[in-house]
Amino acid sequence: MNRPAALIVCLVLAAVMAFAASRTPAPRAPSGDQFSAQRAMSDVRAIGSRPHPIGSSEHDRVRDYLVGRFRSLGLQTTVWTGKAFERLEAKNGVAFIEGGAAQDIIAVLPGASRDLPAIAVMAHYDTVPASPGAADDSVGVAAALEIARLLSAAKHPPGRDVVFLITDGEEAGLLGARAFFADNPMARRFGAVLNMESRGGGGRAYMFETGRDSGPMVGMFARVTDNPTASSLSSFVYSHMDNDTDFTVSKRLGIPGLNYAFIGRPFDYHAASSTPDATDEGSLQHIGDQVLAAARTLASAGSLPAKAPDIVYDDLLGGPIIAYPTWAGWLVLAAGLAISAAAFVRAFRQEQFSALDALRGALALGLASFAAGGLQWLARDLTGIPLGFVQEKALASRWDAYETALAAGGLAAAVLVLKLAALGRTRGWSAWLGALVVGFVLAAALQVAAPLVAFMLAWPLLLAAVLAAVLAFRWGGRLERPSALAFIAVAASPALAQLLYVGHAVALGVGADIPEVLAVFVLTAALFIHPILWPGAGERWPFVVSAAAILLCAGLVVFIRFADPWSVRRPRPTEVFYIADSRSGRFWRSNALSGRDDWSSAVLAADGGAVRRMTMASGGPVSFAAPARPIPAAAPAVSSERTADGRVTLHVAPAAPARQVRIDVKTSGVIDALTINGLAAKPSRRPGQWTHILWDADPAGLTIAFRTPGPVEARWSQLTDGWPMGARPLPPRPADAMPWMDSDSTLLIGAMPPLH
Ligand SMILES: [Zn+2]
Repeated sequence: MNRPAALIVCLVLAAVMAFAASRTPAPRAPSGDQFSAQRAMSDVRAIGSRPHPIGSSEHDRVRDYLVGRFRSLGLQTTVWTGKAFERLEAKNGVAFIEGGAAQDIIAVLPGASRDLPAIAVMAHYDTVPASPGAADDSVGVAAALEIARLLSAAKHPPGRDVVFLITDGEEAGLLGARAFFADNPMARRFGAVLNMESRGGGGRAYMFETGRDSGPMVGMFARVTDNPTASSLSSFVYSHMDNDTDFTVSKRLGIPGLNYAFIGRPFDYHAASSTPDATDEGSLQHIGDQVLAAARTLASAGSLPAKAPDIVYDDLLGGPIIAYPTWAGWLVLAAGLAISAAAFVRAFRQEQFSALDALRGALALGLASFAAGGLQWLARDLTGIPLGFVQEKALASRWDAYETALAAGGLAAAVLVLKLAALGRTRGWSAWLGALVVGFVLAAALQVAAPLVAFMLAWPLLLAAVLAAVLAFRWGGRLERPSALAFIAVAASPALAQLLYVGHAVALGVGADIPEVLAVFVLTAALFIHPILWPGAGERWPFVVSAAAILLCAGLVVFIRFADPWSVRRPRPTEVFYIADSRSGRFWRSNALSGRDDWSSAVLAADGGAVRRMTMASGGPVSFAAPARPIPAAAPAVSSERTADGRVTLHVAPAAPARQVRIDVKTSGVIDALTINGLAAKPSRRPGQWTHILWDADPAGLTIAFRTPGPVEARWSQLTDGWPMGARPLPPRPADAMPWMDSDSTLLIGAMPPLH
């Protein structure tokens, strides 16, 4: 085998292995006591065919369906209503508070010992406003039902109670979970929580987050889970992102547990395209198999896994999980160093050591990863697609092309830089040693700073050391031998496959916003292609490989930039409102998204008004709007008063069923002792800033109370699903457009009577 063939064989083998490992299992037909995605899909179809956000009528239908299903399985099922809110703070200190009345479904499968801590299996049944949520989180809910069926049909009851907690209002700010874990006494009986989530329409289910101090819990997971994808890398990365799931709430309380989610098919996340037909049944099988295994084990265990320090863990291509305590990372590094030392001592009997070439090798490794990161950043930038959740749908609609472009860019950079650094007469072993030294220094730094992720470098280094040892002792260090090259190609391919496999997950996780983090995988991959590329100092073929990869990358970027991103399967997001502004007595048709597509433009122009840019709600985005024909609407009941003791009360109650009401309040003095429907809350940080308060699914509306000196300025709004009766109806959407979030709804806005 010659060098170009070795590189290509290695890359092709790696790609095939990574692809195979990244697949989801086939959905199983109903059989015995195993989880059947085919059976569970009937529940996905029953609940995930239409949007059902908190406060909508479809939401109530889904709730009743689920209560009926759990009861039919013989579980003690209740609907528990609680209220809660989420407070987010913008960089300038402005507070956005969203709360509401959440209706959690609690279904209890009694265990043999009812005094033991219970296991909770958790998923949420609400969706975002415009998505049927077949994946997010109907898959989790359907999996919970299938697990409930299997556990309740078993010959013996579980050893301890298993509680199916199907939460509400997750999408509105984890409302159901916040209310339950704060106010329901049952929460104190939970000894472990298994949560199921989704951030896309398919792909493998990752066990991506654990409770704190969960070493033994991870040990249990590793023992009982077939075909897992789980890594202390993902829990480490996730803990540094500001994403939340219901699991965040139980984790903060110190309840142990495991959190599972799939994140493939990213276009479908929160999109109208997330229908049952578009959902990957393999994801349902994969998440169900894993959570069933963990639930069975925990439910029958005499005692739950103890709390003990977190451990390092990672699965190898969906196969076994390697796990060990953090200190053992030093042993991995020591083993790598010892094997490397033996290999290089032997190899330098063949090749004279050159410090200069070692330096070249070290620099090349660093430069290759910098160049790769730069190229990946540039590729993302040149797609021309702005950052932002809805904007990035245009990227997610061509996700495979985008990910391929990033991989090709990384390969091009690595091959080119290594080749350029090797120009002239360079000694291969010296250069490889330089590269490995850089790797060991970085790995040791990681082992000190973030031992849970140091394996990302330590394992490839150990494998590279073994590779070097075999080459040194079996082939006497002669890297140019065809059989040695064939060995490198085959032996390095699983390592590269693992990098592609993990890189795919990281790309899905953060690749749309910060693709340059993928350069870390290029750095480790370079450790393995080093011995293939380096010795052929005078050969030109690496330039051809690099040029081909860069052309592929560029071609895909051009495709993403210029081809129409929208199709029937992946339609363009559109978000239009009918707005009645009682302050001015004016009416508007508004487009909340910046892309001015034909359909949205037709909606705005329907009443003949000219389109202009404007900001509708305080703190809301700039949108486009055109005057609309007035449609009188029943205004909500609004009041504002200041009592003798100085306490201010603002109230808005919807006139007819409304999904959401809102009060924005601004004062010149400090807001003190703020309550929102009786719950204590914090306003925006500085007086003079607006505080925005949204409240969902509550016929009684929203009442806020606080103390403040001086005048109070306040606005209200009310959001109702659907276009007003009597308005010129929305034209039919083209098949390649979809409603986004609160689209197609009616917004009434007004001002509260001012208080001085
Ligand atoms: Zn979700």
